[in-house]
Amino acid sequence: MKRTALVGHLDASHQNQTVTLQGWVNRRRDLGGLIFIELRDRSGIVQVQVEPDSPAFAEADRLRAEYVAEVEGRFQMRPEAQRKGGLADYEVIASRVKVLNAAKTPPFELDKGGEVSEDLRLKYRYLDLRRSDMQRALLLRSKAVTAVTEFLDAEGFAQIETPMLTKSTPEGARDFLVPSRLNPGEFYALPQSPQLFKQLLMISGFDRYYQLARCFRDEDLRADRQPDFTQLDMELSFVEQDDVLELQERLLAHVFKKVLGHDLPTPFPRMSYHEAMDLYGSDKPDLRFGSRFVDVTELFRGGEFKAFASAQTVKVLVAPELTRKQIDELERVAKQNGAGGLAWLKRDGDGFTGGISKFVGGIAAPLIEQTGVEQGGTLLFAAGEWKKAVTALGAVRLSLRDLFDLAASGPRFHVSWVVDFPQLEFDEESQTWTYMHHPFTAPHPDDVALFGTERQGEMRAQAYDLVLNGFEIGGGSIRIHDPEVQAKMFSAIGFSEAAAREKFGFFLDALEYGTPPHGGIAWGFDRLLMLMSGASSIREVIAFPKNNRGADLMAEAPSPVEDAQLAEVGVAVRGER
Ligand code: ASP
Repeated sequence: MKRTALVGHLDASHQNQTVTLQGWVNRRRDLGGLIFIELRDRSGIVQVQVEPDSPAFAEADRLRAEYVAEVEGRFQMRPEAQRKGGLADYEVIASRVKVLNAAKTPPFELDKGGEVSEDLRLKYRYLDLRRSDMQRALLLRSKAVTAVTEFLDAEGFAQIETPMLTKSTPEGARDFLVPSRLNPGEFYALPQSPQLFKQLLMISGFDRYYQLARCFRDEDLRADRQPDFTQLDMELSFVEQDDVLELQERLLAHVFKKVLGHDLPTPFPRMSYHEAMDLYGSDKPDLRFGSRFVDVTELFRGGEFKAFASAQTVKVLVAPELTRKQIDELERVAKQNGAGGLAWLKRDGDGFTGGISKFVGGIAAPLIEQTGVEQGGTLLFAAGEWKKAVTALGAVRLSLRDLFDLAASGPRFHVSWVVDFPQLEFDEESQTWTYMHHPFTAPHPDDVALFGTERQGEMRAQAYDLVLNGFEIGGGSIRIHDPEVQAKMFSAIGFSEAAAREKFGFFLDALEYGTPPHGGIAWGFDRLLMLMSGASSIREVIAFPKNNRGADLMAEAPSPVEDAQLAEVGVAVRGER
């Protein structure tokens, strides 16, 4: 028998018609001699009623949860006035039932799938994926792929694949290595991104490239990270930064419209890295709510409170009334993020109580005026070296958001650009300069002259990040296309020519054969989908993810391999297994 409809597509046009449906038994209930089957397919659930004298009864009686069944019957819709909004509003009165396959009792009730331990869901992922939440998330993802593809195809982008077995690529994470059997003792690296290959494609003249690229980074995992993940990777020739940003805005707006029917206002606001850090303490500020820092460095300069009197920066965050317990908790957050402590004040009339109040008698009035703190409200301070102070206070700002649900008052989606990242960053641990984005990012044309000078830390990069609700969902840059500038960049980050050649020699060679000006960006596709679908983890938008210990609990990977297999690839395992 052929299926005549998906259950979710049954509507008034099927009234009183005989339909044939196929799917899984979501639930079976026996009531007053009748059997009620909830039949589920990818489009939804419909209730099937089997009457005791029906020829279908004996077969229907065999059905259990997750059996696969075919049902033929008459579709009935209650008149609109009698509908109660439940499954019983639409029913199929079975005339024939066929068990297509039996199923073992599932290890968890699919209806309650969201509530059981995630490890159990991941072990039986194929069952977990039957749940409507997961189906919805992955179908949303599929729609997003279609939206991206249709947009970029229309814009003249070519979709080109780049290798999985390759050499280390420069994203600064640890590589996953793959031993080579044919070249014993040698290893491929899985790509951390297609960065070099997409730049080579520009050198080859493809002009506009994109790829939904799998990337591999061996890092510690978090809710929004996976060891293998998907980027929407793009690169364009003969463009400047504004061209890239403008196209990305249209692309993201198209995806939101197509997938969610949501209008994203364009252009997206742009903020420099310095401003983002200075006002919000983050290079991916959540702008769904305000709570900007107020700078009170000058107010405290040379004053009574010695800890602030000579600080490079004193920033304050205005918070609602807080309990001592809440302040302690926020102080813990500040300390975890590099602050020595969290000074605070509570507004009381024309002055302050608590915290550091005995030191601020003389400046209470300007402090109230500059911060606008309300009666009973709290001021939270971070002071010291600029970046350290703002970073710690930025973390406190996010805790306040979570504590008071501050983002709820803002738009559902807030997208912005952070631009003008520093070209170089000083790494305290190794006491060396390093790249902030990657070593192929072009500096701002006005700043190139600063390479190798004392002021090279001030150089701005032509790099940009796309930020959605406080998450970085994309990052990219205009690239260096001039071999001389590339050489300066390597020398600034202490890469000898020999070291650079060993790592990226093929790329440096290519750069000398007529490289067009070019730039691009990559989106963290999983992270974007997580935010679009309102999920709390990227695992909810990936069909077969790893857990937060990097394990695939279903396939049981990673796993030991036979000694013979190791010998074949010339690898020995050291120490205990
Ligand atoms: N390859 C970069 C990354 O993975 C993105 C880019 O610069 O286009 O972050």
